[in-house]
Amino acid sequence: MSQVVVLKAEKYDLQLIKDNIGYIFKSLGGLDKIIPQNIKVLLKPNLLSARVPDECVDTHPIFVKAVIEVLKTRTSWIQIGDSPGGYVDYQEVLDKSGIGQVARETGIEVVKFEKSRIVDGLPIAEEVFDADIVISLPKFKTHCLTVITAGVKNCFGCVPGLFKTECHKSNPKGIEMAQVVLNVYDIVRPALTILDAIYSLEGEGPAAGHPRRTGLILAGFDAVSVDAVITHLIGLKPEQVPTTKLAHLKNIGESNLFNIEILGESNLDVVKINDFKLSKTALLEKLPSWLTKFLGAFIKFYPEVIPQGCIKCGICVKSCPVNAIDLIENTARINHKKCILCLCCHEMCPENTIKMKRNFLARIIQSIK
Ligand code: SF4
Ligand code: SF4
Repeated sequence: MSQVVVLKAEKYDLQLIKDNIGYIFKSLGGLDKIIPQNIKVLLKPNLLSARVPDECVDTHPIFVKAVIEVLKTRTSWIQIGDSPGGYVDYQEVLDKSGIGQVARETGIEVVKFEKSRIVDGLPIAEEVFDADIVISLPKFKTHCLTVITAGVKNCFGCVPGLFKTECHKSNPKGIEMAQVVLNVYDIVRPALTILDAIYSLEGEGPAAGHPRRTGLILAGFDAVSVDAVITHLIGLKPEQVPTTKLAHLKNIGESNLFNIEILGESNLDVVKINDFKLSKTALLEKLPSWLTKFLGAFIKFYPEVIPQGCIKCGICVKSCPVNAIDLIENTARINHKKCILCLCCHEMCPENTIKMKRNFLARIIQSIK
């Protein structure tokens, strides 16, 4: 039976989180068993873009620091690694997110995933193979393509940045991307996933949503189970998240809640996250399947730049896999004839000025719901 530890954690307090991390290791079999002495550990937080911790886009630095301090009692070989989306400056991401400072304070090396090894047709960061184990430290957020981003989706960061753009180009639809994400997860297979859901991002995630205190840490060996439990806590069925649905079909991990033992806060009703707002695009996952079959092709979501907020940084232009964005006069402009709806620009805009728009039918259905 799969196990997921669910713990309450109201704030980013170093000692409080360290105590919780200690409890997680103890519940799952003991720190010394899970982390053998001097093992090589790669920590994979979610470092999507250069945002301050209060924006809830990246894994919180205190969360990462707490994990490092617990692990340091077992090993000194610890690396932090990620590959932010698009063409964002990694140093700026480290500086703004606070992860750079944590690395300096704890004496831990930070690497940017650049070199890769091809496994089953997918480029996976070399550092994943250099380490004995990967510990995934995702941030819990909504996601415009995959409904949520948590344990499974965090592993997609192990694909170096430039290759990510190619993956989006060849797999623009949500379900296609979910398949690629799941394939990457299946290769990386973190030994442990510890989800930062103390503050989460609701609404138009993974970058343009609103921070929300959800007061939880979840952890388990199986990221599919961790995702299934957090999905249940926000009031969705696990199979409404495409990566979890595909994982179930492919027999990867355990997403059936009846087969997952909950440790810690074993009564999930007590820690339910009520009225958690999803991205507009999650509408398709919430409709009955017969209606999606009938109307799905006519429900459209598309990105649009709000010119007043655009600072002409050009990040969206570089992130677009099909060159559908130009900087014209005082703003970025999307050529909707070229756009393949991969939503990378929406994800990467540092000013959150690329908004998701709905066509008439989507607006009608959403207003009825
Ligand atoms: S839309 Fe956003 S990402 Fe694109 S140029 Fe403007 S501010 Fe930069
Ligand atoms: S304009 Fe945005 S959504 Fe359209 S293809 Fe380019 S990055 Fe993807």
